[in-house]
Amino acid sequence: MYLKVNLFINNEDVTTEHYDEVRDPGRLSEVVGYIAKGDATHIDRAVQAAHRAFHSWRQTTLDERMSILLKSAEEIERNASSIASVTAKENGILLSRTVDEVKLGLMDMRNMIELAPSAFQQRIIEDESGWVSVVKRPMGVIACIVPWNAPIILTLQKITPILLAGNTIVLKPSPTASMGVVTILRTMAKAFPPGVINVVLGGGDVGSALTSHHLVRKISFTGGGNTAVAIMKSAADTLKGVHFELGGNDPAIVLADADLNEVVPKIVEGAFRRTGQFCFAIKRVYVPYDLYDKFYERACELTDSYKIGHQLNEEATMGPINNQLQYQRISELIKRLEQSGANLVKLGKQLEPENWDNGYYLQPVIVRDVDPNAEIVTCEQFGPVLPLIPYHTEEEVIHMANYSEFGLGSSIWSSDFDRALSVANQIEAGMTFINGHGQTPLGSKYIPFGGIKQSGIGREKSIEVFDEFIEYHGINYHKKR
Ligand code: NAD
Repeated sequence: MYLKVNLFINNEDVTTEHYDEVRDPGRLSEVVGYIAKGDATHIDRAVQAAHRAFHSWRQTTLDERMSILLKSAEEIERNASSIASVTAKENGILLSRTVDEVKLGLMDMRNMIELAPSAFQQRIIEDESGWVSVVKRPMGVIACIVPWNAPIILTLQKITPILLAGNTIVLKPSPTASMGVVTILRTMAKAFPPGVINVVLGGGDVGSALTSHHLVRKISFTGGGNTAVAIMKSAADTLKGVHFELGGNDPAIVLADADLNEVVPKIVEGAFRRTGQFCFAIKRVYVPYDLYDKFYERACELTDSYKIGHQLNEEATMGPINNQLQYQRISELIKRLEQSGANLVKLGKQLEPENWDNGYYLQPVIVRDVDPNAEIVTCEQFGPVLPLIPYHTEEEVIHMANYSEFGLGSSIWSSDFDRALSVANQIEAGMTFINGHGQTPLGSKYIPFGGIKQSGIGREKSIEVFDEFIEYHGINYHKKR
């Protein structure tokens, strides 16, 4: 039976005239279901509903909002396995990873709920001349736009602080990962008053109707840089604020004292997890000349053990690419590398060779002896292709790592914490990890997630996120002299 997913406005399912077919990216001959195609009128209806709901939602106390969000987290937990399986089927990420994604999303949600009380304390200051109060207030309707690559966690980490602050939302997921997002938001919305959470489906035209709507107060977007440019322009006419979580080109810097036995498996994992389709994946690795050959051999050996297959196949350790456009982009990038005479190897095993052409499958690729300015080093490949770049000195590698318009994540690998920290302090990025590539549970709670330069504007998660979605209201009483 096919899944049919509608729009969700004012806590009601809304059908539309057109439905798009969704195909399984790991089995293109199979239809997963149909998703409603919204348009500008649906956006207007959803924004109006969110605007109406804002008047009463903003009056609720923080305690009430925290308890509603905690209740909805429990609902998500109860439905976690169906949410994970529909998401994996439509977006191609391994089911085991997607199960973890739901768990991590819930962890983020609960972390932010826990941090909220200290973020929203009213400040009162008084002297003989006057009395001052500074309160953080919600903004209104927030437009949320999320991509396909980690739709559950990106949705949960985006909307939790927005709702906790007392705002309402209209969210538009990606056409290639809508079903899991609608399922999770419908599940959550049961605990919320109508109109607080709304979802409209569609492509860029629907996104653009949302970002230009006059009643939307701020846009929170996760996706690619070119789309962010279009959104920023569309926000200009009504002077909306933007909050962007964009792409990265994360460098991993291996220092000369690194223990390769420990480091290489973690770097390979940090590059190829989710088939390389995550914003803070390792996208270039810098290795000292002395360790280069050994690093290369071990990295190839480990990468060759990947089993590429369907995302629901329990034996698979690498799934397909999510969509045709992305598959073509990466295939062409690999072709250009081959034509340029680059030293590359295609690794891994095809689990189901008979289905290889029936999905967007790619073997992971390692490229060695790469010029630091080559396209594969400077672009965001967003797929399973990893360049290894040799270097001589720390000064040189810091310069190469920073020579980028991106600045999302980065990592330093060393047996000496002080040495690693000293290099970390010189890296231009929103986040630098040492001896790992990603956050520990502590980092996940306290590190503001996001990037600098063209990797983003603003942050998600941590206590800092709440300032993205509030307005300050100051009240000043003049005392009689
Ligand atoms: P994308 O920019 O193509 O699409 C993202 C979303 O924007 C989709 O929902 C899409 O339908 C919508 N959209 C497209 N055109 C629009 C327009 N004109 N107005 C409004 N909305 C529009 O990105 P993608 O291919 O879905 O995702 C991959 C990109 O996302 C990569 O660059 C990746 O690095 C980035 N990303 C960043 C983070 C982060 O937190 N920094 C996380 C995940 C992904």
